[in-house]
Amino acid sequence: MLQQYDSRNDNLLIYINGKLYPRAEARVSVFDSVVQGGDAVWEGLRVYDGRIFCLDRHLQRLRDSAHALAFAQVPEMEEVRQALFDTLRANRMRDGVHIRLTLTRGEKITSGMDPRLNQSGCTLIILPEWKPPVYPEAISLVTTSVRRNSPAHLDSKIHHNNLLNNILAKIEANVAGADAGLMLDADGFVSEANGVNVFCTRQGVVYTPYADACLPGITRGVVLEICADLEIPAFEKRLSLTEFYTADEVFATGTMGEITRVGMIDGRSVRNRGQSAVLQRIRARFGEWTRHKGTPLPF
Ligand code: PMP
Repeated sequence: MLQQYDSRNDNLLIYINGKLYPRAEARVSVFDSVVQGGDAVWEGLRVYDGRIFCLDRHLQRLRDSAHALAFAQVPEMEEVRQALFDTLRANRMRDGVHIRLTLTRGEKITSGMDPRLNQSGCTLIILPEWKPPVYPEAISLVTTSVRRNSPAHLDSKIHHNNLLNNILAKIEANVAGADAGLMLDADGFVSEANGVNVFCTRQGVVYTPYADACLPGITRGVVLEICADLEIPAFEKRLSLTEFYTADEVFATGTMGEITRVGMIDGRSVRNRGQSAVLQRIRARFGEWTRHKGTPLPF
């Protein structure tokens, strides 16, 4: 497993709707929408050296996802921002921290699907944990039979908690002994891996799939900006598995694992031609940006 229990997280204080609870007492109702239907939206954020990286983008995506799902009585993002700061302060957390931020449609008056059963506003949960980036130096991928949702089914642009599409892919990866499942779109083009976006490089040019069936990841967006900054040509494109098998380098991006080299896809080793020249430059700049560009904590 890529993640293990970390005893530094024994005594966490977890925020739920305005109050902080010790880990063992942090609970939501069995009537909560997240229990009833996976009816919630979420963000994963990281804290580096006293700064939350890309805080505004995460809050914007949270708000957009909640709006797309027609949540009512969504808290103001300023309130969410303040709650994040208060929770980190209470836990004395300023570095090496991953935050799972969840906003559910809230508690229902009785079990059921209908959003009209939600009459008391959303549930906001902030779970910060001590968590270094979770991936090893290189990961392996295996292509899964499960396809990534297209906008025709459940739009992957909504960052929702109904993660079964991805969890089924992760199970296939586990069974195959790979680190993550590579998911294709409905037409057979590469979409993303079950919890990370994917990129490949060829002759110094960076490619990533259009965000049609994948989550438009925030780290993915940052990598495209870094490419522009470093004058590395980068394109979104429909990409087939063969283009990934034969690429010079392949890498995965996400808040949890940052930028990780992919060493193997479906038993084909990635050649890593050019000794990761492009990837190394992107990672170095990412390291600088995470240390300096985030929103400073007010404590
Ligand atoms: N794809 C999926 C399916 C994810 O769940 C995540 C994690 N939120 C990502 C990609 C990476 O997104 P980000 O860079 O915004 O963390």
